[in-house]
Amino acid sequence: MNKKVLVVGSGLGGLSTALRLSARGYQVEIVEKYHRAGGRLNLLEKDGFRWDLAPTFFSMSYEFDELMRDSQMKMPFEFVELDPLYSVHFDGDNRSYLIHKNLEKLAREFAALEPDFEAKMNRFLKSAGKIFHDTEGLIVKKNFDSLVGYLLSMAQVPWQHAPKMLTSMWSELDKSFSSFEVKVIFSLVGFFLGSTPFDTPAVFKLLTYTELQHDGYHNVKGGMYKIVEGIVDELKRRNIEIHYNTEIVAADYAASKLHSLIDKGGRKWQADHYVVNADAAWFRGAILNRAAFSEKKLDKMHWTMAPLTIYLGINRKLDGYYHHNYYLRRNFKEYAGKIFKNSIGLDKPYYYLNIPSMHNPGYAPEGHESLFILCPVPDLRYKPDWSDAEQIADGIVSDLSERTGIDLAEATVSRTVLSPVQWQSMFNLYKGSGLGLAHDLNQVGYFRPKNKDEVFRNLYYTGASTTPGTGLPMVVISSKLVTERILKDDGALS
Ligand SMILES: Cc1cc2nc3c(=O)[nH]c(=O)nc-3n(C[C@H](O)[C@H](O)[C@H](O)COP(=O)(O)OP(=O)(O)OC[C@H]3O[C@@H](n4cnc5c(N)ncnc54)[C@H](O)[C@@H]3O)c2cc1C
Repeated sequence: MNKKVLVVGSGLGGLSTALRLSARGYQVEIVEKYHRAGGRLNLLEKDGFRWDLAPTFFSMSYEFDELMRDSQMKMPFEFVELDPLYSVHFDGDNRSYLIHKNLEKLAREFAALEPDFEAKMNRFLKSAGKIFHDTEGLIVKKNFDSLVGYLLSMAQVPWQHAPKMLTSMWSELDKSFSSFEVKVIFSLVGFFLGSTPFDTPAVFKLLTYTELQHDGYHNVKGGMYKIVEGIVDELKRRNIEIHYNTEIVAADYAASKLHSLIDKGGRKWQADHYVVNADAAWFRGAILNRAAFSEKKLDKMHWTMAPLTIYLGINRKLDGYYHHNYYLRRNFKEYAGKIFKNSIGLDKPYYYLNIPSMHNPGYAPEGHESLFILCPVPDLRYKPDWSDAEQIADGIVSDLSERTGIDLAEATVSRTVLSPVQWQSMFNLYKGSGLGLAHDLNQVGYFRPKNKDEVFRNLYYTGASTTPGTGLPMVVISSKLVTERILKDDGALS
């Protein structure tokens, strides 16, 4: 009889783990708190419009290829490579900057601002690419059983990268470029890790290499949710059941073994192995009552930004916009330093605009457009009261109207606003943190909450707050790492 695995959560981490394990003959069952699969990789449907709920693109598309091969299935969705990657708009500047993968084209965008841009960017990318290739196999895609093993692997990373662990992404850009705009634009990747470029170690400049040279950015034909639909269809074919509206709230265990997980209705879920896709730090504290993950301890950890998200359906088409568009200002350093701690107002916000109906006509009725606005805001530790979320959203929509010259409030026929309060309650995201734990050096690798539980030998974790980190490709890698752990523990891997 094959072993049974209960997966808690149907985010991309849980779904990919279910695929990989079922391909190896495990009997898998999934319980999910939300009413639909996908976790943050979800869909909002309202008033005839659709929006991707959170992720709007991904890099390292080859991780999805590897997932499908490893799970013995055909790729169920089609990548659409983005070009240009995104546009950037600074307040008070009439022109916008288009970020192209082609370096010559990119250099033309900055010709007036940054002398020798192409040569400088080439140097920057060469070093970033080296960090990426020197760490991908050695650190990122690897399980570590001990601190010594981790340090030994780190010691194999060429020493030339060591200073970049100690300096910030911003100081690295500051050394490489002179133009304010160039530095700000290529520091935005720091926010993808959920932190500011002033707090993000310079080694993460490797993300600029992944966006500009390595694999670029991708969307999915028909919308990001096609990823989830494709995987869920395959799981159905494999008779894997997902039980929705089923939240795990307690655990039943003995010294070193988990006996069952208990849902809100009191039902006990039993399996040989348990894989938790809920936040790996939060679960240890809230469900397993581990002192090292108490609320007090979790509050002291470094969490990524919380999102305030606005989903608009408008009764007109937009011209001259791109899939991703960033709206920034000139007080970048001050704003980035203060926004997450709620010590600067949200009346002059920085935000990101995505227009999913541009690539996916099915996302809006004829002659209409669906717009998604993401504004990074303080999490519930710093701003617990979000009763002003609609007002803040009004301010952002009015700012975007001014900057685009389109009265968006007037054109709006559908509007939904989600504050960190909803983000927390929908998916149990700790204090509304959108991307989970941040990636400081003391929260990555061996120091990140582990994908194998420290106490129960049959409990494992997958997803954004365990190894290797957050973002769709990282979460897919986390499913590979946890699968390797389980196979090894079951003696199926040497
Ligand atoms: C606004 C926003 C924009 C983003 N944009 C991008 C992007 O463009 N590109 C990118 O690569 N990444 C992006 N990310 C990050 C990306 O969404 C995450 O890294 C990734 O989706 C995390 O997947 P996961 O499986 O770890 O977790 P989740 O998607 O959170 O899945 C965990 C699942 O577990 C369920 N769960 C939690 N607790 C319980 C419980 N007790 N019982 C049962 N079920 C439970 C949750 O409901 C959820 O479905 C974005 C995130 C946000 C919030």
